[in-house]
Amino acid sequence: MADPKPLPFQPGSLQGISEKAMLIHHDKLYAGYVKKTGEIGEKLIELRKSGNYEGNATYSELRALKSEETFATNGVYLHEWYFDVLGGDGATEKAPELTKALIEKWGSLVDGIKYFSACGMAARGWSVLCWDIKDQCLRHYNADAHNQGGIWGCVPIITLDCYEHAYFLDYGSDKKAYIEDFWKNLDWTKVEEFYLKASQFKL
Ligand code: FE
Repeated sequence: MADPKPLPFQPGSLQGISEKAMLIHHDKLYAGYVKKTGEIGEKLIELRKSGNYEGNATYSELRALKSEETFATNGVYLHEWYFDVLGGDGATEKAPELTKALIEKWGSLVDGIKYFSACGMAARGWSVLCWDIKDQCLRHYNADAHNQGGIWGCVPIITLDCYEHAYFLDYGSDKKAYIEDFWKNLDWTKVEEFYLKASQFKL
């Protein structure tokens, strides 16, 4: 695993989300997932080279490492998808193709955003709009943990961190206000770029 990626925006520049909260989120939590992903990868190499492993599904060192490998790696990737789409001004007209696709999928942009926001309220971990490379369409999925709830074959486009650590410092228990501000901070130029790239991917 490479080093942590820097934030693509100034941490004190977002609406509602403070510099302090963003720096804790990025520099401690996200960087921690990067570090642990690297540690787990090294342990797996050591274990494989030693030849001293067993594939026991109740408990084994190999099982524990393989389980936490997906938790830590998704912890890195999902945070990067989330940070990458923040720092914008919420102007939806910067994403003409994605907004057209959202309207086709959910009837109107207002309804698409309303539905995503409600899904975010219902999620304990992540709420993700993605491109399904098998069915060739937009989908939305929730995950209650980094390695639970995702669908293989779906590429994230708009990723919302719904864990309490993402909002509690600034919003207390008012998750709804945090999600409203998420849309104000969304970089629609970036999500348009993700959508255009992802929707060319066919399998
Ligand atoms: Fe987070």
